[in-house]
Amino acid sequence: MIEQEQAADRAASLAAIASEVRRCTNCRLHETRTLAVPGEGSPDTEVVFVGEGPGFNEDRQGRPFVGRAGALLGRFLGSLGWRREDVFITNIVKCRPPDNRDPEPDEIAACAPYLRRQLEVLDPALVVTLGRHSLGRFMPGARISQAHGTLRPVDPTTGAAHALAFALYHPAAALRATEIERTSYEDVARIPVALIEARTQRQAAPAAAEPLTAATSAATSTASSGPMPAADPAPDTITEPMFLAATDPVAPDDQLTLF
Ligand code: URA
Ligand code: SF4
Repeated sequence: MIEQEQAADRAASLAAIASEVRRCTNCRLHETRTLAVPGEGSPDTEVVFVGEGPGFNEDRQGRPFVGRAGALLGRFLGSLGWRREDVFITNIVKCRPPDNRDPEPDEIAACAPYLRRQLEVLDPALVVTLGRHSLGRFMPGARISQAHGTLRPVDPTTGAAHALAFALYHPAAALRATEIERTSYEDVARIPVALIEARTQRQAAPAAAEPLTAATSAATSTASSGPMPAADPAPDTITEPMFLAATDPVAPDDQLTLF
């Protein structure tokens, strides 16, 4: 019952943020948008996917990842037995940059409080970054060609104070190059292991990161949604990729459920 009330609180907080986003005029992107795209998904998920910004279809519908890149993201999730509505999907900027240009630094800065507040509400265990701009927020200084498929601590000032970040190429990049698509499926197959690692680290907080020892017990326990002291990763430093316990894709029998 208490868990249901907390989920209802989170849903209400996310809805309040979404309605602010829909009215927002804090940067020039509001002038050219059709609809702002706050993001959507489960209010009690452990996993948040963060893309770059809405494209043509997202701008028309007001929903994230509904075009071709979104269809591929859906296939990535499907390869894990997950559905879109099991996770939360949002973007670094909530309004479409004209002609799908890169968002400018001042636009990214203007929009940052919305994503920070969404992450504070969701308090995810795992943030999956999609592409360079999202990587830049959660793994400052990292290069996508090296960071994809790796897991690192998240600076708590992002709002995801108890999360690890896992990097993927942007699905639009995978649509342009089969090699990136193939690599992305391999990276995606490591997400369940990354989630187990992230759950273990949350439970261990504020102790220093420990290597994964008891995957099965971590996988069956539920993450606390109450306040926890931050693990205190040093900001402003490029953190080393963390050890992932298994490099092989998780076998179907071992597939995680999210909850
Ligand atoms: N690309 C993104 O980065 N985000 C979307 O929502 C759609 C396409
Ligand atoms: Fe506001 Fe973000 Fe849209 Fe800019 S991109 S107008 S800051 S919601």
